[in-house]
Amino acid sequence: MSALTMTTTTTTTTTAASTVPVGASHHPDTVLDWSDSLVEGRVVRDDVVESRASWSAVVAAGHVLTIVDVGGNQSGDCLLYDAHDPDERYSVPDTLAWQGEAYVRTGTVLRSSEGRPLMTVVGNEIDRQDTIGGACSKESNTLRYGHHVMFHHACRENFLTEAAKHGLGLRDLVSNLNWFMNVPVEADGALGIVDGMSAPGRRVAVRAERDVLVVVSNCPQMNNPCNDFNPTPLRMIVVDPAISGATSGATSGATSEASA
Ligand SMILES: [Zn+2]
Repeated sequence: MSALTMTTTTTTTTTAASTVPVGASHHPDTVLDWSDSLVEGRVVRDDVVESRASWSAVVAAGHVLTIVDVGGNQSGDCLLYDAHDPDERYSVPDTLAWQGEAYVRTGTVLRSSEGRPLMTVVGNEIDRQDTIGGACSKESNTLRYGHHVMFHHACRENFLTEAAKHGLGLRDLVSNLNWFMNVPVEADGALGIVDGMSAPGRRVAVRAERDVLVVVSNCPQMNNPCNDFNPTPLRMIVVDPAISGATSGATSGATSEASA
């Protein structure tokens, strides 16, 4: 008994443990740029979302989430909920109608089903972000690409897996954001899902206007070009800009992945 006591150690870390599985793969020659937070502040969370995996976290009011497109052209499908009342959740029509613009850019207020601000885009390193293209699912994959893709892992499965951790389910999945996905609205009104315009290390930053539950599916789609047919990781960095501190002070998890 005493020996057991003597060998017991306590491990402490300065950041929350990653919630995502490890071991997902991408092409070994892929260029990865892990970048850093777009906004200075004390790092409160710094996670790697492996390719094809899901992620969620509550971002406290005032904190800023930077999403890094580590491998370039990787769609990060995203849903937002009021952390204390998830019946109030992200709304595509409220967001687009309020701003009178089809794309999400710096300054876009991401609004809820009640028309109230959930988050605001405070930084964006690609021309435009999408919130019209929707999320892939086994069902839509089958319709678009044939019955042989019935068992391909898809964003809807990721959303369900992650939502279940917060007591949410099918009825809570609504239209979503697609960070880094290129869905141009053509002159005739047509939509397309086409080759991306992002690059390794490009970022978007969103500030929480209240405590917000953020749910992300790192899109596993392999049947269209939304992920360059090579799903890659995302990095999620949450900082508290009210507290000064190096934005690179808690990146050990990401940097070890970068050298792997
Ligand atoms: Zn997807």
